[in-house]
Amino acid sequence: MAHQECLFCKIIEGKIPSQKIFENESVYAFSDIHPQAKHHFLVIPKIHVTSLAELSDTNIMASLYEAALQIAKEKGFKESGFRTVINTGQHGGQTVFHLHLHLLAGSQLSGKFN
Ligand code: AMP
Ligand code: ZN
Repeated sequence: MAHQECLFCKIIEGKIPSQKIFENESVYAFSDIHPQAKHHFLVIPKIHVTSLAELSDTNIMASLYEAALQIAKEKGFKESGFRTVINTGQHGGQTVFHLHLHLLAGSQLSGKFN
């Protein structure tokens, strides 16, 4: 169920434009507007989930990682490597409260945990 004031729900609904790179029945993925790597995508569930802390159906995580892997294969990152990150809540640095997996790739990444 979409949350009316949720930015990423609006992106899924097409009310806010995005650069789509992948979609299936349960997942949508698009380019991050402020890329932190040569390639930076956001992989999100079509169902509104506020954060990993609020997740009840863990099958959603499988869907997100399956989609991330498929994108990595399609874009040629599987061999060169990539990073997946989920920020949760205030201390985790989450700024958009619709669960999302960051997929970063394309060059050597630095700074692992902060
Ligand atoms: P987080 O800080 O983990 O909540 O990540 C939120 C991400 O959403 C940031 O990397 C933002 O650059 C990205 N973002 C915010 N608004 C948009 C938008 N309209 N389209 C694409 N990415 C966005
Ligand atoms: Zn949402």
